[in-house]
Amino acid sequence: MPQVEELISPQALAARVKELAAQIRRDYQGRSLLVVGVLKGAFVFTADLVRALDGLDVQVDFIAVSSYGAATETSGTVRILKDLDMPVEGRHVLLVEDILDTGLTLRYLLDYLSRQRPASLRVCVLLDKPSRRKVEVPVDYVGFAIPDRFIVGYGIDWAEQYRHLPYVGALREEEGADRE
Ligand code: 5GP
Repeated sequence: MPQVEELISPQALAARVKELAAQIRRDYQGRSLLVVGVLKGAFVFTADLVRALDGLDVQVDFIAVSSYGAATETSGTVRILKDLDMPVEGRHVLLVEDILDTGLTLRYLLDYLSRQRPASLRVCVLLDKPSRRKVEVPVDYVGFAIPDRFIVGYGIDWAEQYRHLPYVGALREEEGADRE
């Protein structure tokens, strides 16, 4: 198994989640919020974030998508493996994603959810890799901007491994970890 280098500690993650939640609480005060976590990568971040939103009227749902393979990256085609359980029409929706990389996944999800006419639609990402962007995506809340490394931990996997790590790490490059 490749070695993992810690990039963001559990303490730094907790502190940033608290700050993001404070911002979100201010922005959604008095409104009912539907938080939509993108599975699987955002499951830990979503769980921590919603628990910091006490005082708000919050419901939580999840959508599961498959990442496109390298061959189809340019098409931006994303397959929905599990759709939302709750209707989005007329709701204030906050989409919560683990990593914003090329932007293709979020672009697809934003288009998909917009078509269902939410009252508002915002995006919260834990990690942003700005150097890899292919399409611009409006993001309202960003945890950390990071360099172009292969990230694991805090819900994020490499071949279904490492999701349980309590920190955000990067695979050590000398291990020859290829992008999946
Ligand atoms: P985008 O569509 O913006 O290129 O990529 C978003 C998705 O690609 C993320 O939700 C994540 O599933 C995957 N991804 C991007 N960068 C990484 C990474 O460094 N590590 C892992 N495990 N997945 C990544």
